[in-house]
Amino acid sequence: MRDEGITLRPLFGGRGDDASASSMPLLLAGPCSAESEEQVEATARDLAALGIRYFRAGIWKPRTRPGSFEGVGARGLKWLRKSASRHGMVPLTEVANAAHLRAALRAGIRNFWIGARTAANPFAVQELADVFASLPEEEKADISILVKNPVNPDLELWIGALQRLNAAGVQRLGAIHRGFGAYGETIYRNRPEWRLPIELKRRIPALPVICDPSHIAGRRGLVEQVARQAVAMDFDGLILECHCNPEAALSDKEQQLTPQELSQLLPTLSKRTGGEASAALKAFREEIDAIDAEIVVLLARRMAVADEIGELKRKEGIPVLQPERYCSLMERRVEEAEKLGLSPQFMRKVFSTIHDESVGRQINPSGNNEK
Ligand code: PEP
Ligand code: MN
Repeated sequence: MRDEGITLRPLFGGRGDDASASSMPLLLAGPCSAESEEQVEATARDLAALGIRYFRAGIWKPRTRPGSFEGVGARGLKWLRKSASRHGMVPLTEVANAAHLRAALRAGIRNFWIGARTAANPFAVQELADVFASLPEEEKADISILVKNPVNPDLELWIGALQRLNAAGVQRLGAIHRGFGAYGETIYRNRPEWRLPIELKRRIPALPVICDPSHIAGRRGLVEQVARQAVAMDFDGLILECHCNPEAALSDKEQQLTPQELSQLLPTLSKRTGGEASAALKAFREEIDAIDAEIVVLLARRMAVADEIGELKRKEGIPVLQPERYCSLMERRVEEAEKLGLSPQFMRKVFSTIHDESVGRQINPSGNNEK
């Protein structure tokens, strides 16, 4: 199959296809990081008992700040390989440069993911592609690579990374949607921006697109909602972070599930719970819930800024209400909203309610604004 000039073959030597025959999406799970031989083994054992066949663990961890746990490095590769083969699983790890990739290949790993920070850097992706290009054809034919979305919401960059790997001769390719970095508070760690993976699938229909609810959610309590939404949207699979003892995890402890928590989640992930219409409806409802939760966070942020302004006005002796500013602000918002298909009456109602609340808080900072 060729789309965007990409020629594809099934992931994992065709074994990934078993998902299409079952009502479950393709499931990949494992710890954020391999930390010790015991932790890798305990997690692999419990996941295998749940029927998980694809076992992930990060060996080299790209961390935002220096001084955080940066992975155990190459010595963890043999733990991953050993536990996966003991429990009949397929191991996967992240590679970010040629040295990682060569070490992983030497350790017998054939399945990889490329992380969001690496996918955003064409030099790094090309460096990896050059190593793949140098492999003998029969070795290359065995390799599967999942490319995470770049941290920034740039579909072309994501497709470009897939094209670089494909041009190097890797055809067992898939994508992982792990959400996009955002400044400021949201309920997510990484905003899902579902339109991007949907557009990716539209542009390359044969490409398996897998959702990573763990990195989108960033916290255990939200993982299930994101996972169910992804299933309702018909993603081809899920990759979930799972640790035998998340409390003690050295990276991403807030978002990792225990195997026991994963076992409770699995029955809710069946693809065929209802007809087409109900799956679509469920997806929209979950999207609405998530948007509403974001509106609440944004309103709280807006009120916090209004409180700061109130404080400054008091210090500088400026009156709380300045009608010209209010009128121009309202007209600008209404104009922008109309361009997006919202009615002026609706927008005036929404903004005058928000504005009333801000003014009330500025006039009476410590009080209760209920009328
Ligand atoms: C990971 O999967 O552990 C990881 C580092 O993910 P991302 O590249 O999506 O941040
Ligand atoms: Mn992680």
